[in-house]
Amino acid sequence: MQTRFISVLFILFFAIAPGCIDKFKPKKEIKTTCPVGIEPIRKVLFIGWDGVRSDALLASNTPTFDSLLQSAIYSFNVDRGPHTVSTPGWSTILHGVWPEKHRLTENSFKKNNYKQYPDIFQLLRRSKPNLGLATLSNWDAFLQITSEETYANRFDTDPEMTQEAIKLINECTPDVMLMHFDFPDDSGHEFGFDPSSLEYKSAIEISDYYLGLIMTQIYLREMQFNEEWMVVLTTDHGGQGTGHGGQDNITETRFVWYAVRTPNFTSTMISQGETVDLLPTMMKWLGVSSSNSGLDGTSLF
Ligand SMILES: [Zn+2]
Repeated sequence: MQTRFISVLFILFFAIAPGCIDKFKPKKEIKTTCPVGIEPIRKVLFIGWDGVRSDALLASNTPTFDSLLQSAIYSFNVDRGPHTVSTPGWSTILHGVWPEKHRLTENSFKKNNYKQYPDIFQLLRRSKPNLGLATLSNWDAFLQITSEETYANRFDTDPEMTQEAIKLINECTPDVMLMHFDFPDDSGHEFGFDPSSLEYKSAIEISDYYLGLIMTQIYLREMQFNEEWMVVLTTDHGGQGTGHGGQDNITETRFVWYAVRTPNFTSTMISQGETVDLLPTMMKWLGVSSSNSGLDGTSLF
């Protein structure tokens, strides 16, 4: 996409400051305590870009994402498992088990088996009860996938969420911060999950712009305070046409991507991955063993 066109889109985006669509009535208890981190060096920032198809990501102009790949383990062919909607997808990633274990197959928490297969925050707190843990999202249901956080907040717009994330990073520096950007999924449902859709690609590019604002702060902190941030980027499903549910056998929907960056990783592309590996990877970075938790994945490093 041409730079001039992107600039126009950015200006339009800021001018109209669109709020993301309310998919569900808010149910999560909002907590706004600044979660002071206890880890002096290693931190985790997880960013979910909802509904970003691998080929559309590759076709988009994403300079910040591209720069992260220089020191990342990454793949554009990652199995996210069956039941190709958001709640099962994020649950697989943040509980580290396939739907067979967490039992979620639709955008509802009714059948969840979270008690037997706890989320990343609960697993981390077993070993390190005082960690600073934060989660920020456009979508209330994303906030319900984890628990025991110090901070949980829902935002109507990406600029507000990004601004708050930067504030948290600098004021209290949580040990783990989860962020979820819903705009690409909204755009895919409206204009098509396809690299030929300029609107869909621009939603991905705008998400990359916010990633850039956050990464600027992280690079500064790594230089000033010797911190080492693992930055995990991924999605929960792709899509075909303007949809993505019930498409377990469609490559464009089920097979997604991830990138796991640290300051000292060598750029490594994996030919085939699985989203269940992300949770053990993040736990290992923080020095917490994930064995004996019944997890389905293993650390990428
Ligand atoms: Zn989704």
